[in-house]
Amino acid sequence: MQALVLEPDLELNLRDIDLSVEEALGAHDVRVQVHTVGVCGSDVHYYQHGRIGPFVVREPMVLGHEAAGTIIEVGTGVTDLRVGDRVCMEPGIPDPNSRATREGRYNLDPAVRFWATPPVHGVLRPSVVHPAAFTFRLPDNVSFAEGAMVEPLAVGMHAANKAALTPGDVAVVLGAGPIGLVTALAALAGGCARVIVTDVVAPKLTLAESLKPGAITGVNVADTPARVAVDNATDGWGVDVVFECSGNARAAAGVFDLIAPGGVVVYVGMPGEPIAFDVVAAQVKEARVEHVFRYAHVYPRALRLMGSGQLDVKPLITDTFTFAQSREAFDFCTAMPDTSVKAQITLPQL
Ligand code: ZN
Repeated sequence: MQALVLEPDLELNLRDIDLSVEEALGAHDVRVQVHTVGVCGSDVHYYQHGRIGPFVVREPMVLGHEAAGTIIEVGTGVTDLRVGDRVCMEPGIPDPNSRATREGRYNLDPAVRFWATPPVHGVLRPSVVHPAAFTFRLPDNVSFAEGAMVEPLAVGMHAANKAALTPGDVAVVLGAGPIGLVTALAALAGGCARVIVTDVVAPKLTLAESLKPGAITGVNVADTPARVAVDNATDGWGVDVVFECSGNARAAAGVFDLIAPGGVVVYVGMPGEPIAFDVVAAQVKEARVEHVFRYAHVYPRALRLMGSGQLDVKPLITDTFTFAQSREAFDFCTAMPDTSVKAQITLPQL
């Protein structure tokens, strides 16, 4: 079938590729006609650099892991999904028998097969076979485009879970990229009264504030230090939660300065290099420190929040391309304008 293939020499080609092994439908699988795929920072990173940490593109690999579509075939053992259902798919398939999976931490299964992480093919292709257990029906009022946003949103949902929020909490989100913005939305859905979002790019902060006027405050840390904004918002006490979504080494190292005594820091962004961790600064506040790696158990909750109208990701979908424009979409994403957050690719429907 035709797919968007990243070659080992980092050429990007919309071309035929044999995916017959992946296309075999097991008893507990569904076949999904892909409708919308979001372009993720990780896809772009593979396109530009050919690797993320230990994951190296050595064979041609289909890109894309943020997907929604329509079920066109179900395996004989599938009882809760039907042909015609509109769905989104969780891209990581763990080994159900692994120790991590049995302990409920299936995102940490070392054997997890995650779309568009070498050597596993992604989903920028007309159809895909996927386990029913990791396929979720979209509420009627949730579009395919919103369904494809559940994947990045899931990271923010998982971060909010790790924070163990209490209603009325005040949080800071460092970094107003796609993950920072979905984390701000998840934090508000999880009970935060206020979220301060920091960045150095003014249009991103304007967009952040527009997501929940009054509840989200954008702070440009090129003008105002994060600590000053936090002091103003909390009478100098500090915030209950810091979500570090920037991956910026300096921001990530300064997180304990921002939290209240007994507060929590959740590391979400991935710094390119090891960062300083000030143990004493954490100790004197008895800070709790959490980390997230992808997500687990959050897709149904994200979809319920979207279906009930409590959480709206539509303003984050800023650019849409056709499947035929896939290469153009990726080139656009390597140099995204400041006003863009998420680009998506829409596939032709049979
Ligand atoms: Zn993603």
